[in-house]
Amino acid sequence: MSMKRCGGELRSRQARKVVCKSTDNGPGALEVREEIQNLVIIGSGPAGYTAAIYAARANMRPLVLEGYQAGGVRGGQLMTTTEVENFPGFPEGITGPDLMDKMRQQAERWGAELITEDVEFVDLESRPFLIRSTDTEVRAHSIIIATGATAKRLGIPSEEEFWNNGISACAVCDGASSNYRQQELAVVGGGDTAAEEALYLTKYGKKVHLLVRGEKMRASAAMQDRVLGHEKVQVHFNTGVSDAYGDKKGLAGLLLRDTKTGEERKLDVRGLFYGIGHQPNSHIIEGQVELDDKGYVKVRHGVSTNVEGVFAAGDIHDVEWRQAITAAGSGCMAALSAERYLAASGLLIEYHQQEKQQVANEQEHKNGKTVGLPPGFDPTADRHKGEQALRKLYHESDRLLVVLYTSSSCGPCRTLKPIFSKVADEFTGKLHFVEIDVEEDAQIAQAGGITGTPTVQLFKNKERLHHLPGVKMKREYRQLIEAAL
Ligand SMILES: Cc1cc2nc3c(=O)[nH]c(=O)nc-3n(C[C@H](O)[C@H](O)[C@H](O)COP(=O)(O)OP(=O)(O)OC[C@H]3O[C@@H](n4cnc5c(N)ncnc54)[C@H](O)[C@@H]3O)c2cc1C
Repeated sequence: MSMKRCGGELRSRQARKVVCKSTDNGPGALEVREEIQNLVIIGSGPAGYTAAIYAARANMRPLVLEGYQAGGVRGGQLMTTTEVENFPGFPEGITGPDLMDKMRQQAERWGAELITEDVEFVDLESRPFLIRSTDTEVRAHSIIIATGATAKRLGIPSEEEFWNNGISACAVCDGASSNYRQQELAVVGGGDTAAEEALYLTKYGKKVHLLVRGEKMRASAAMQDRVLGHEKVQVHFNTGVSDAYGDKKGLAGLLLRDTKTGEERKLDVRGLFYGIGHQPNSHIIEGQVELDDKGYVKVRHGVSTNVEGVFAAGDIHDVEWRQAITAAGSGCMAALSAERYLAASGLLIEYHQQEKQQVANEQEHKNGKTVGLPPGFDPTADRHKGEQALRKLYHESDRLLVVLYTSSSCGPCRTLKPIFSKVADEFTGKLHFVEIDVEEDAQIAQAGGITGTPTVQLFKNKERLHHLPGVKMKREYRQLIEAAL
């Protein structure tokens, strides 16, 4: 990997950009920052963003490495849920993705710097600590680990074959796909996540089978009442999934096993959704921070780890409460603890707050709201939306055609959109970029073979070059586009 060395940041608002002596600016270059950070926060769930808000308000100017695809998506677990009814301050409820967008905006408004990259390596023995993410290397006097937890997979033999083509870990992201509408679907798991997924899928599926390995569910009593009482949900107790089988359309059914008798049977379903719990995202600190036998960080005084200057917040250490509000509370404690630690060690450097309006403008640009979609169709414009534009460009464009399929309820789509928008900016005038909402334009999504969102497809001269389900690394999209031009 080539490197570019960066000599600190300019103090003006415009220069959130790092000043670099660059030897290689191409994709894949690692940006090495020389300025030592007060605090690096790893993770962007309720814990990470709350820590960022508190640290930024304390003039610490924290750097947040939000995550991209390791251990979930930017914004964390709530990006995969619909309504959040129990987060204080929203009497009418709020969707998970909207709540996370608001937290992110609040952190940015107060001067936190946010980078949507995965942390791949940390060295907690060196001082200041070293943190390396996909494209950035940085040193910091303190760290907050807020990497949360990730949905577990079953690991059945044909999982890879049907992944995103019938098997999904996110009903909210993929349930609206035309492939699942009016079909029989299955959810595996017996806890709150599985129950919520099953209920969500009743909006789209003809019937939802909830497959519970044991003889009772672990979900809360209220959730159990809802699934057991729902006319479209059938709960199968003592039922394990051994494998899946398919046909030309994708997943066609499951091989089930009675966990008591060992008897096998088939269940014809077009979708299997996982709701089987979570794995703490602690591998980057394994061997450096004390973990329990399941991989959760062991903390003292709420958020302190065994390494001085390293704090842990949210589901990465919480084996009991696992709620957005408790994660947010623990993010607050971690930021205040980091501030106290830096002040007591004489390491704290204070930064002045930034101009708020400009931050808001940048945020709007990043969210892709103002990124140049013209009101009428203009074939010379780079960016377009909707089925009509796609059909026209598919037949008439001589540029590379890049199609991003999204849906309004899909959290990972919100992560991908601004990132993808930046990648598209790098190829101005060279490609046509079309965004399709699979709920609004279900027909064309079906014609495109879309079974989940987000999905990206690349076309040239009416030929499909690539079909990329899920969220990939930025550089992967860049490289495929470059190669296809
Ligand atoms: C389906 C579902 C519904 C839920 N509904 C509710 C609800 O209604 N109310 C409620 O209070 N709670 C709810 N929860 C629980 C709540 O979402 C979690 O308790 C909360 O999100 C935990 O927050 P966190 O910040 O600790 O971690 P997470 O939300 O898990 O966020 C972790 C973050 O770390 C990032 N990350 C991971 N690895 C890396 C890495 N190597 N580098 C950089 N970043 C990384 C991820 O991208 C992610 O942004 C729900 C959970 C699920 C799964």
